[in-house]
Amino acid sequence: HNYSKDDIRSMVKDEDVKFLRLMFTDLFGTIKNVEVPITQLDKLLDNKLMFDGSSIEGFVRIEESDMYLYPDLSTWMIFPWSTDRGKIARVICQVYRPNGEPYAADPRNNLIRVLGDMKKAGFTSFNIGPEPEFFLFKMDENGEPTLHLNDKGSYFDMAPMDLGENCRREIVLTLEEMGFDVEAAHHEVAPGQHEIDFKYADALAAADNIQTFKLVVKTVARKYGLYATFMPKPLSGINGSGMHLNMSLFNDKGNTFYDKDGELEISQEAYYFLGGLLKHARSFTAVCNPIVNSYKRLVPGYEAPVYVAWSGSNRSPLIRIPSARGNSTRLELRSVDPTANPYLAIACVLEAGLDGLRNKIQPEHSIDRNIYRMDAEERQKSHITNLPDTLHNALKDLSADETMKKALGEHLYNSFIEAKNLEYDSYRTQVSGWERDQYLEKY
Ligand code: ADP
Ligand code: GLU
Ligand code: MG
Ligand code: MG
Repeated sequence: HNYSKDDIRSMVKDEDVKFLRLMFTDLFGTIKNVEVPITQLDKLLDNKLMFDGSSIEGFVRIEESDMYLYPDLSTWMIFPWSTDRGKIARVICQVYRPNGEPYAADPRNNLIRVLGDMKKAGFTSFNIGPEPEFFLFKMDENGEPTLHLNDKGSYFDMAPMDLGENCRREIVLTLEEMGFDVEAAHHEVAPGQHEIDFKYADALAAADNIQTFKLVVKTVARKYGLYATFMPKPLSGINGSGMHLNMSLFNDKGNTFYDKDGELEISQEAYYFLGGLLKHARSFTAVCNPIVNSYKRLVPGYEAPVYVAWSGSNRSPLIRIPSARGNSTRLELRSVDPTANPYLAIACVLEAGLDGLRNKIQPEHSIDRNIYRMDAEERQKSHITNLPDTLHNALKDLSADETMKKALGEHLYNSFIEAKNLEYDSYRTQVSGWERDQYLEKY
């Protein structure tokens, strides 16, 4: 919606909005909220609302802790679950420095910058259709999540097996009230696991939607006594949760990935974009799979990718080209998980694709058989490499890729690598239950 300041003022009056929740996203993809009473509305609309940025993850410079929140009025939304004490509205903001410059450490500002480069290259939008998956766990009497799944259902099961169904239905209805165009919602393969797909949008709106989506899922699940988690692999031995990203690049004539005369009806642009994605796949993994646990999902046997390859038909590779053509022609990147900061992840995959276009990177031929049935030698002959197997190794690849540095900008690139190396180190120095089970009595 293209709301004006006056539109906002009249909605606040008509709907009795009492609080404003100003949202932005930190380095780790966590939504940050500054809540202010409605008396601050004029200040906000005039870009004069200040906050202390020094305690925000990734906003490192203490000497510049005074930051301003500039609202993006198109993201204005009144929460459907407001209370009888008046309603709460939210607006997504960009972080600005006191001198009026967009703050480079704000992931949303960075995506806007990269989208600007895309426009200079002649494209109008980078469309993203995410497929986020999540688990619903029961909560205990203190409202803490347990490891008890709320059902024993599996893919496309219906009630009575699928006890999360009512919860999921309310999530969908709430999303629709908030303007989402939900295309599909279903039980996933693992017990307690669900997926909700909503219509693709231009990159910035898609990233905003992903953040709003996670908030809605968690909020509604709580009402049902359930805890929704987007942790990629909460339980070993069953499928993890991914967030496949479908992507396409449009110009003023439509979808540049479609060409009815091209091989597989895919355009040369799409092949170059794909070539760029494959080239940088190992280095954007740290951003698309940013936590220690992400790498427990990227293992064989659970429908998550392990190898860098693409296919027009098979689901096992990293990148799949779904069969739809025309305006729905798209590449599906299957490695991403829902813990990725969507602003950073989308900036990285876009920059990778643009690099493919700029440098005419032709992808290796497609792998249309199940890669998991190939042995190491066959994979090597087909030039198939692995995705990084730990956060540590993923960070090494990210640290060596200038294109990714360009995608994130120097500030975000450095602070991401530094923070994630610390995270990995803190994991590495822990002694786990698995180790004691294996070794304590044996040695
Ligand atoms: P899958 O075949 O992997 O199950 P889904 O049908 O669940 O895929 O998800 C399709 C996603 O792709 C939806 O979010 C949809 O809006 C999105 N999509 C459709 N067309 C495009 C496009 N041209 N560009 C980007 N995403 C698209
Ligand atoms: N849950 C699987 C994953 O980890 C994906 C299942 C699917 O194809 O939707 O990516
Ligand atoms: Mg799925
Ligand atoms: Mg998919």
